Amino acid sequence: MSKQTITVIKGDGIGPSIVEAAIQVLEKVGCEFDYEYVDAGLTALEKTGELLPQATLDAIARNKITLKGPLTTPVGEGFTSINVTLRKKFSLYSNVRPVISFKGTKARYENIDIITIRENTEGMYSGHGQVVSADGMVAEATSIVTKEGAERIAVFAFETARREKRKKVTIVHKANILKSTSGLFLKTAREVASRYPDIEAQEMIVDNACMQLVMNPQQFDVIVTTNLFGDILSDLCAGLVGGLGMAPGANIGADCAIFEAVHGSAPDIAGKNLANPSSVILASIQMLEYLGMQDKAEKIRSALADVIASGDRTTRDLGGSFGTTDFTAAVLERL
Ligand code: NAD
Repeated sequence: MSKQTITVIKGDGIGPSIVEAAIQVLEKVGCEFDYEYVDAGLTALEKTGELLPQATLDAIARNKITLKGPLTTPVGEGFTSINVTLRKKFSLYSNVRPVISFKGTKARYENIDIITIRENTEGMYSGHGQVVSADGMVAEATSIVTKEGAERIAVFAFETARREKRKKVTIVHKANILKSTSGLFLKTAREVASRYPDIEAQEMIVDNACMQLVMNPQQFDVIVTTNLFGDILSDLCAGLVGGLGMAPGANIGADCAIFEAVHGSAPDIAGKNLANPSSVILASIQMLEYLGMQDKAEKIRSALADVIASGDRTTRDLGGSFGTTDFTAAVLERL
């Protein structure tokens, strides 16, 4: 059988250091992948004059599986988010963001195991927005929800719940106010839920969901929601288990998948060897599970858990005083 080639985008800011750590871990556990390195973001802009060069798009399409570091989207007119562009271009309609408690983090809670499944291509991120008055004082943006889009993400969520033997899916919405868009999402998700009698379906308005997540997060199992709510709720969930350094995400479509950290390029700590590489290591675990390599995924997860629980060379965000490279060395030793 030919080797799987993984497209690797090291990304900007802390990206290269944490992606490098994840590749070392994959190699150590005996994954025989070929890696095709391509650029995107500021790194690509500097080299090629483009944020998302055609060669990068071609590699993502050719290899189907991509491991990606965070990308900096320059602030200002004319720059659309690279991440949003990638998600739309490859129809990566599902953004899967799991958070689990690791013993040894400074998190406020224990025993959290929540997967947020965020619709990734529609809603407020549809990209239609403009300033509508000549004096620049009024702006508008359009949110688009389709029945097809709502249905496929709801099916994805219930299928994920069933495959992972989970008990409950919470549909998070704001249909009481956003009657058309959120209303269509809720109605469609309800219809899908009725086809899964083995899984409890719960409905929750997004503001209440935020409060419930902070007060009693253990009640949640799988959350399915629209793009903007999913973006915000998944960062909230990351905060429950120790911060953005512990939060991975998978962007999954019918043909391609891109695995990444939830967080950005962290310019405040870039180049200082301070970043926690767990986010991208956890994204690699998601990638291995997607590829059916559960054994290797589990080995990495338990090595990571052991490092964090013992506090052996952990990074600052985890309460330690060590660097990205020290933390990675501790994980590699256990493998
Ligand atoms: P950020 O996620 O980069 O950082 C937020 C805070 O979390 C910072 O204090 C940072 O130091 C900390 N942090 C993030 N990752 C960490 C890690 N692995 N270990 C320890 N601490 C970590 O958010 P931001 O500063 O708002 O955004 C910076 C840039 O990243 C922006 O250009 C934004 O557009 C981009 N961004 C990219 C992605 C992506 O590529 N998926 C996602 C979000 C933001």
